[in-house]
Amino acid sequence: MSKTIMITGTSSGFGKETAKLFKQKGWNVVATMRSPENGLEFSELDNVLVTRLDVQDPESIQNAVKETIQRFGNIDVLVNNAGFGLMGVFESATPEQIRKQYAVNVFGLMDVTHAVLPQMRQRGSGTIINISSFGGQIGLPLGTLYNSSKFAVEGFSESLSHEVSKLGISVKIIEPGASATNFRNGMEMIKNEIPEYIPIITKFFERYQPTTAHLPKATPEDVAQIIYEAATDGQPQLRYIIGEDARFHIDTKFKNSDPEFIQIMRDRFIN
Ligand code: NAP
Repeated sequence: MSKTIMITGTSSGFGKETAKLFKQKGWNVVATMRSPENGLEFSELDNVLVTRLDVQDPESIQNAVKETIQRFGNIDVLVNNAGFGLMGVFESATPEQIRKQYAVNVFGLMDVTHAVLPQMRQRGSGTIINISSFGGQIGLPLGTLYNSSKFAVEGFSESLSHEVSKLGISVKIIEPGASATNFRNGMEMIKNEIPEYIPIITKFFERYQPTTAHLPKATPEDVAQIIYEAATDGQPQLRYIIGEDARFHIDTKFKNSDPEFIQIMRDRFIN
């Protein structure tokens, strides 16, 4: 019997590549997206269900889970992939922007997990794979909202992994570095009109990309491959880092003392 994977945010990027890879490997794939008309290339395929799921719309989550159970019987693997980046000065962000970043990246991910857990618990098996970022391990200037939303994903996933470990359910965290998806186009920028922050913004954008320009980046296909590994390796490993840039940033944190780490980050991006 084929296993079934349900993925959020499959209209592009990591979600789309993951849907393609699991389909190739013979899995039943539930490719969910906000606008299922963007998934026409999947809808013709056997054992692929394309259905609407907006992580901000609880009814669409319930319907997608129900439809999946009706079609395939259960969900073996859930990939919480849907997300977007909001970048800019925290003081300049509107309350709506702050709430939307958490509504999608954190509460949306929790709501989908909440909807899928009961049948995993009843069957005594399942894997939940949450797409975080290297930015879920380190804070960057102008990343207060995106980074903290991914820190929340990390804390949630780590705690949940313990809570469900005796129920046959495993939780995995994927931490990609920069990768060529639609992520940058979909990024929302916070408009800043506070002059004191302008030199900080300028310096950060001058330095951010050059810092890791020499390091090879993961492709969306590499990320899909690591998601496949996380889904099938049967290992208790929680975190999967992908891309030399992600490794570089995360090593800065874990290979230095806390004061050294903070000083390196300030020198790298601010001073
Ligand atoms: P992407 O190509 O922009 O894909 C993001 C997906 O999320 C799209 O399918 C988008 O759907 C979907 N989405 C956004 N809001 C949604 C909502 N409310 N409900 C359901 N789906 C929603 O970017 P990506 O790089 O593949 O991003 C996937 C994940 O990887 C995100 O969680 C992101 O934070 C993380 N990540 C990306 C990078 C990178 O550099 N690419 C690095 C680290 C982590 P629509 O088409 O409807 O907008």
